Amino acid sequence: MAKPIDPKKRPMPKQEPFERVRNFDEVALGYTSELAREEASRCLACKKPKCVEGCPVGIDIPAFVDCLIRGDFAAGIKKIKEKNALPAVCGRVCPQEEQCEKVCVLSKKHESVAIGRLERFLADWEAASGAIETPDIASPNGRRVAIVGSGPAGITVASDLALLGYDVTMFEALHEAGGVLTYGIPEFRLPKAIVRREVEYVKSLGVKLHLDFIVGKTRTVDALQKEFDAIFIGAGAGLPWFMEIPGENLNGVYSANEYLTRCNLMKGFLFPAYNTPLKRASRVAVFGGGNVAMDAARTALRLGADEVHIVYRRSRSELPARLEEVENAEEEGVIFDYLTLPTRLIGNGQGWLTEIECLRMELGEPDESGRRRPVAVKGSEFLMPADAVVCAIGNSPNPLIPMTTPGLAIGKKGNIVADEASGLTSRAGVWAAGDVVTGAATVISAMGAARKAANSIHELLSK
Ligand code: FAD
Repeated sequence: MAKPIDPKKRPMPKQEPFERVRNFDEVALGYTSELAREEASRCLACKKPKCVEGCPVGIDIPAFVDCLIRGDFAAGIKKIKEKNALPAVCGRVCPQEEQCEKVCVLSKKHESVAIGRLERFLADWEAASGAIETPDIASPNGRRVAIVGSGPAGITVASDLALLGYDVTMFEALHEAGGVLTYGIPEFRLPKAIVRREVEYVKSLGVKLHLDFIVGKTRTVDALQKEFDAIFIGAGAGLPWFMEIPGENLNGVYSANEYLTRCNLMKGFLFPAYNTPLKRASRVAVFGGGNVAMDAARTALRLGADEVHIVYRRSRSELPARLEEVENAEEEGVIFDYLTLPTRLIGNGQGWLTEIECLRMELGEPDESGRRRPVAVKGSEFLMPADAVVCAIGNSPNPLIPMTTPGLAIGKKGNIVADEASGLTSRAGVWAAGDVVTGAATVISAMGAARKAANSIHELLSK
């Protein structure tokens, strides 16, 4: 007789909302081995597993789930690492509900298998066991590759090529590696010790890392090309957009990038023990509805704000953030002001923000993104008190590399133009992938595109 199917995922143990808003510790606590094995046993072991197709880096999900069911955790994590150098990160922040879990056959009738949570469990189990295994590395082939940026895209190309015997050097503008994983996503969602661990793993493959090295300033791409056989650009999209409304130069107005960098990378939440100040505002308004906005709002709460608002011009169903993160924010007491558009920031006459003028919106016909277009309701202006605003409405790539690299084709939004299948740019010997090509996207999409670039570099250099 077939075993009965449990329709629900095993819930993720979490810190209670009242407790977690007072600390920066990780909210989700992870499965125990019992929970992980119970959850894994919900897998139907499909003959044609759709989940693998749903994973941008093609992890053999049924194989690692099977190892988990059998209790062979070492084999399970080894399976994942054949395709993914950042399992503890992806298990935490990947939008699995839009990828592997979305196409899980079980999800037609029940909740899908919690693939991300299982990936996280295995990665954490390996770290706790202290026996981190390094895959076999090919003998050195004498070819040198430079990687610009140490975010998920750069890390993926670096580890893929290092395993194939390339001499890889990664150049990072900041004083710590990891890209957005380090400076953007907060500690309570992705502990920095985990990112550091994954960066150490990449270094253990022989990858050299130069920090505080701004390509385009410290050395140009042209100069690097004289020394390296291939250049990969994974410089991300770190240039924040603003609303372009009056008052954005008032004190108390931040881009999410600055706000989160001050907190995560510069440890502003530990001020004065660390010397980066961060305004402890009482009433904070965050503009935007994506993951970045949720992270900024939840950070503001942990910094001690009395009231934190997400100001979003569409409704809840159009929020681009992961549902899990929206729910976490709601549980923690973030107030969502839907169908609201900020139009002006007002100061106290001495340069400090005190109020936001807003308009009420209603949803009209769908726009080019397929989402219903917000339309202003005439005469609906109102004032919202605020002493800090965090603008989280999007980012584009920094123009430094395009400006200093002649012949590098650039798209309308400042993104580097690269072939989708290979990552090759208009400059011979230069590849690019991740947010610098697509604009702000996801960790796994950056990794998937970076893997294609690594394959293309290998194909060309091994001829
Ligand atoms: P990045 O991670 O941006 O890394 C680029 C690196 O290049 C940076 O370290 C940068 O300092 C460096 N660099 C830039 N210019 C130079 C230069 N000239 N010289 C040398 N180095 C340079 N995605 C998810 O999947 N799930 C989430 O939950 C999620 N939450 C997010 C929350 C926040 C706050 C933010 C900002 C993003 C989030 N994302 C999330 C998006 C995800 O982090 C990015 O899509 C991903 O990091 C892109 O990877 P990347 O390697 O292309 O770029």
